[in-house]
Amino acid sequence: MLSKSRYTRGLNCPKSLWLYAHKREMQRISESTQAIFARGTSVGELAQHYFPNGKMAVLEDFPGYTSAKRTQEFIQQGIETIYEATFIYQNTLVAVDILLKLKGKWYMFEVKSTNSVKPEHIKDVAIQYFVVTGSGPELEDAFLMHFNRDYVRHGDLEIDKLFLPENVREPILQLQADIPGNIKSLLQTLKEPEPEIAMGKQCISPYECDFTNYCLELWPQEKETVELSNKAEVMQNEIREFVANVEYPLCYLDFETLMPGVPMFDESRPYQQIPFQYSLHVQNEKDGEIRHCSYLAENNLNIDPRKNLIPQLIWETQNAKTIFVYNIAFERTRINEMIRDFTRYASELEHINERLVDLIIPFRKGYYSMESMEGSSSIKKVLPALCPELSYEELEIRDGMTASNTFLDLYYCDDQERVSQTREHLLKYCHLDTLAMVKIFEVLKKV
Ligand code: SF4
Repeated sequence: MLSKSRYTRGLNCPKSLWLYAHKREMQRISESTQAIFARGTSVGELAQHYFPNGKMAVLEDFPGYTSAKRTQEFIQQGIETIYEATFIYQNTLVAVDILLKLKGKWYMFEVKSTNSVKPEHIKDVAIQYFVVTGSGPELEDAFLMHFNRDYVRHGDLEIDKLFLPENVREPILQLQADIPGNIKSLLQTLKEPEPEIAMGKQCISPYECDFTNYCLELWPQEKETVELSNKAEVMQNEIREFVANVEYPLCYLDFETLMPGVPMFDESRPYQQIPFQYSLHVQNEKDGEIRHCSYLAENNLNIDPRKNLIPQLIWETQNAKTIFVYNIAFERTRINEMIRDFTRYASELEHINERLVDLIIPFRKGYYSMESMEGSSSIKKVLPALCPELSYEELEIRDGMTASNTFLDLYYCDDQERVSQTREHLLKYCHLDTLAMVKIFEVLKKV
């Protein structure tokens, strides 16, 4: 039997469906995918408050025949709001997040923890619509409920404002004719030997496939072992001018952010990036001593991380004439959002914005390029080329997304030892981000 997720998995790559059914032990679910699933489940539960007092059709962990039977019983009993309403048709089982009867007509709602409708959501709702209308009540309309990106939290969550139902009937109707054929072919795939499918775009889009490791081993990519030279092409005059324009005292700044779908704090919106940490290296004069300071918010749900971060940042950067960041758009956007959300600090934050200077410029403009940077100006390419002794490899946290998810998890962690260990890892990671900038600028100064 297929389920909604098996059907969409199979549409994306029949081999992935086959492996899921026959070689599940080879599946590797990354931490970020696990976090996405966990978020999806809790958002689904939250959305039930949009249509309260419904009956839950699924009693076990996963929907199955019993849930389908309970759904039929609820419909016969005249229940008008059913959560996880389960239906089976043409060997395919689906559970609709919310099935609602209004003035005698049925409507289905699928909940997604995103800020908009994505193409993959349409395939997802289309199979549900097909199974429900094939085996259950006729549907008047089908909606996808996602976050309302313009919702700003003030106090308690307002569920009716947080979610935005969007009518998706038209696009899903266009897919209906293909569904019986798709089901037939996917069921056939399951009966046959492992399909041979070359790796491609489907392995990373719309999600990273959880069998990537397995397929990579099977068809190891011939990695080109081209030695990339570290010979530098340097436009001396441009770099010297860039360096000469830097005024002291000088700071190097980097933010880490968390981006919860459901706004956790007042004055924040779905998936808004909330700075919770920064690292700052400070040098008062050219060739002077460099000191480090940092901020890492308490993982306390009652305290907005920005409340203490902003005044400390203003205080610690007050004397700087230049504030280096790497790729200015990110920090500038965060500061502009803090100006909007914390108007009492607007002028001081504006003053920080005025002093930001982008250290990426010499690399983006090609003033300093090396073959080993592979045409990229990203710090992850520039740093190993210029300062091979500095590396993220030995750190537990090596990228911003992991830092973000890790900090989010701390809000719900009771293990104090784990909390303090993780906070150490976060501090080390963010520290390296600004230390990298210090070292890169040192190289530029020597040109
Ligand atoms: S890694 Fe790619 S080819 Fe392999 S099962 Fe997944 S999507 Fe299919």
